[in-house]
Amino acid sequence: MKEFWLRKEECTGCASCANICPKNAIELKKDDCGFVYPNISEACVDCNLCVKVCEKRLKIKTSRITEPYTYAVWSEDKDTRFKSTSGGAFSELARIILKQGGYIAGAAYNDKNLVEHILVNNEEGLSRIRQSKYLQSEIGFIYQEVKKLLAENKLVGFCGAPCQVAGLYAFLDKDYDNLITFDFICRGMNSPKAYESWLRELENQNSSKVLNVWFKYKVNGWKKSPRCTKVDFENGNSIILKGNKNLFMTGYLGPNLYIRPSCGNCDFKGIPRYGDITLADFWGIEPQLDDDKGTSMVLVNSVKGSKLFLLAEKQLHVIKRDFQEIFQGNVCFDSSVKINSQSEEFLQKLDEISFSRAIQKYGRISILEKIKQKFF
Ligand SMILES: Cc1cc2nc3c(=O)[nH]c(=O)nc-3n(C[C@H](O)[C@H](O)[C@H](O)COP(=O)(O)OP(=O)(O)OC[C@H]3O[C@@H](n4cnc5c(N)ncnc54)[C@H](O)[C@@H]3O)c2cc1C
Repeated sequence: MKEFWLRKEECTGCASCANICPKNAIELKKDDCGFVYPNISEACVDCNLCVKVCEKRLKIKTSRITEPYTYAVWSEDKDTRFKSTSGGAFSELARIILKQGGYIAGAAYNDKNLVEHILVNNEEGLSRIRQSKYLQSEIGFIYQEVKKLLAENKLVGFCGAPCQVAGLYAFLDKDYDNLITFDFICRGMNSPKAYESWLRELENQNSSKVLNVWFKYKVNGWKKSPRCTKVDFENGNSIILKGNKNLFMTGYLGPNLYIRPSCGNCDFKGIPRYGDITLADFWGIEPQLDDDKGTSMVLVNSVKGSKLFLLAEKQLHVIKRDFQEIFQGNVCFDSSVKINSQSEEFLQKLDEISFSRAIQKYGRISILEKIKQKFF
């Protein structure tokens, strides 16, 4: 039986190993920090496909261009734009695929209030995968499902973090004409354990179960949205958490307290990209063009991506931009965040104390931590 072959800091939890295993011998299980890693059972026959697919992720040769066509974009549909995390580019691009009878795989909340990848083929499904959810999505066996649809000649869009898109390609082992992939600039994936701990505390404080979490709620504008989250409860109440009351985003955006270890040295940054299209916030767009309702940055990285973008253009407000601008507004494009050195301790402590107490204890960035984050 095979031993897990990577160090924890190298495994993104992309699940390509579990998807390729012919014996279903690999299950992704959570460690005590809430991050999933492959767990290999006795059903393993040592065929080594898991190790090969894992190595392949890092060697994928994409035909992506190295100077992507770059656009500032928003959806002309006000409702779509408001409900999207940046400008709603994803929804308009996805709609073109749906109109052609295609499917989209993306991240949705499940009935446990966690996030998982699902396949959708209609507008109602699209509304479930719209919006950024700031915790790691469970991939499950979605790559297998995507492969099956591709083999049936269905058009399929797949949206995920760059490491997940790389995982899909490694699993498929080739590109397909009927597959279009979207990645996004990724700051890093948070631990579902931290998220659950935060939710439990909100549920206790509000005596009701959480129904929905809307991160980057744009009610006070897009630029303030990273610190604004709307939470809906089963009893019909909703709360809007802003500034340092927005504890989950406070621990994510400042001290990097619960980001997956592999995100601290991400192998999937920069160019060439993995997706046919890359999505991001267009931070730094000049005030004359910014109505503060949300602007997506879209990088078109391939011919397939370009064809899709052309078809969606009617539904989008599009401004051509210079690719170099990405380096000014979005450091996460080509560099990894520094994980807090107390991250593991913080996540383990959540077994004993509430989320807010843990944030009080570990959430302040000490001068020492700032120095560590800058230089190490
Ligand atoms: C964890 C995370 C970190 C990010 N970091 C940055 C950043 O540093 N800089 C930046 O400019 N943009 C970042 N983004 C991307 C940004 O938040 C928007 O998703 C992007 O600009 C597209 O916005 P949109 O309005 O076009 O579409 P949206 O509707 O917001 O697009 C959502 C798409 O992202 C997918 N998605 C949502 N949550 C997850 C998840 N947890 N795992 C995998 N896929 C998911 C959905 O399936 C959907 O396909 C991040 C997104 C996530 C999920």
